[in-house]
Amino acid sequence: MVTIQNYINGKLQAPIAQIYLNNINPAKGEAFGKLPDSNSEDVELAVLAAKKAFPAWSNLSVAERVVYIERIADLIEQNLERFVQAESLDSGKPIWLARKVDIPRSVSNLRYFSAAITHFSSESHFMENHGINYTLRQPIGVVGCISPWNLPLYLFTWKIAPALVTGNTVVAKPSEITPYTAYLFSEICKEAGLPDGVLNIVHGTGQNVGAAMVAHPEVKAISFTGGTNTGQEIARVAAPMLKKLSLELGGKNPTIIFEDANFEDAVNTAVRSAFTNQGQICLCGSRILVHQSIYEKFKTAFVEKVKQIKVGNPSDEENFMGAIVSKAHFNKILSCIALAVSEGGKILTGGKALSVKDFEQGFFIEPTVIEGLPYSSRTNMEEIFGPVVTLIPFQNDEEALEIANYSTYGLAANIWTNDLKRAHYFSEKLETGIVWVNCWMVRDLRTPFGGQKFSGLGREGGNDALRFFTEPKNVLIHYK
Ligand code: NAD
Repeated sequence: MVTIQNYINGKLQAPIAQIYLNNINPAKGEAFGKLPDSNSEDVELAVLAAKKAFPAWSNLSVAERVVYIERIADLIEQNLERFVQAESLDSGKPIWLARKVDIPRSVSNLRYFSAAITHFSSESHFMENHGINYTLRQPIGVVGCISPWNLPLYLFTWKIAPALVTGNTVVAKPSEITPYTAYLFSEICKEAGLPDGVLNIVHGTGQNVGAAMVAHPEVKAISFTGGTNTGQEIARVAAPMLKKLSLELGGKNPTIIFEDANFEDAVNTAVRSAFTNQGQICLCGSRILVHQSIYEKFKTAFVEKVKQIKVGNPSDEENFMGAIVSKAHFNKILSCIALAVSEGGKILTGGKALSVKDFEQGFFIEPTVIEGLPYSSRTNMEEIFGPVVTLIPFQNDEEALEIANYSTYGLAANIWTNDLKRAHYFSEKLETGIVWVNCWMVRDLRTPFGGQKFSGLGREGGNDALRFFTEPKNVLIHYK
């Protein structure tokens, strides 16, 4: 049994109330350890430690700060397999995905922001015959980072790295559903000699730990990734306190396949974008819009490929899909499939829970493809966040755009065409923060990342993240 501890003021410690939650292995449906069920008292300790550490950390030079971040990245690389195993065990994601994406990307996050901060500069504005303005970019103070369960260490480091390199001290909370790699990360921070209190990790539920972080007057900014409802609740509390907020929320992303697309690439990538990580990536394409002239051909090829997907033991390299992250989420996805059927949807493949030999208590669901639902149906409007996609035919460009933008979400869109004019036109008109043309989830960490509408507020990535975690101050030197 693994007992996870909080990381506060440089020490690994039990929660003050000594209460723990079970940590479940979703592939087995049983506990493999426990984690602190911390509360506002633990958050208070963490905030005090972060506040105390702020003056020294923010006064280090950039070159001095990044030495620690690089050292942490090195140590994760040296312990890569341990992190990979932990991530897969904790989340049910297939081991190949943790090894290929989650953990390497966590290292890249740390390395990217270590490099980016050394190239970060601020503006100056010259006023002819008057003076010169220059803008200071100073750290904010104690900031809060709250992350979800779908890409645990990947999204945790995506927030912590820019917060730390800009000179802030951090109180962070990983999801209570997948806390394991954040705990390993705290061990690594100790080994790297990160000064006490610079990063504090408090484990526990959103209601107890997350809410206390958001409401704490000393936490000056909140960077949050998670569901839209939670983001709205955070905004409700933080907005009157005038805290800086970055909210990366849900999605219902369209994959749009035009008649001139490279057919094979489009089918293969649509399958990957629908079912990678069991469909539990905010960027997954869950509404597949297909031009009517190729709809039947696409449907046949797509369903054929989906039927070949292997689902099962996450540690088996052969399996493309592992387990759903939790029993509650498993039940939610099954209820979404039932809703689709009750709305008149036709299941083309999948649609059921899957019993896997030796993993009978695990949370597995077949990759599921549904057609025949209006684009305004609840199934096509609400985020499922699982291995369930719908196919929707469209007649022309205007209709494709109408359907794509009908969603209240606006995170990402994925379009497949060889028509340059159409690619540019759609890129301009789609109401999303990200558009991929003829590819999916290809990421350049320098680019802005985030969503429009109910998919969020603000942007992460590149200079947007460095700007979020700094306070601009303009100075005018008047000489006449
Ligand atoms: P969630 O909103 O339930 O939880 C996210 C985090 O917030 C967890 O750490 C949770 O403990 C915490 N939390 C819950 N209630 C809180 C509160 N009142 N105050 C403060 N913190 C609170 O989301 P989830 O189920 O963990 O993740 C799935 C969701 O995340 C999906 O909607 C998905 O689309 C979204 N997501 C978005 C992105 C993006 O970049 N836009 C990336 C990944 C996941």
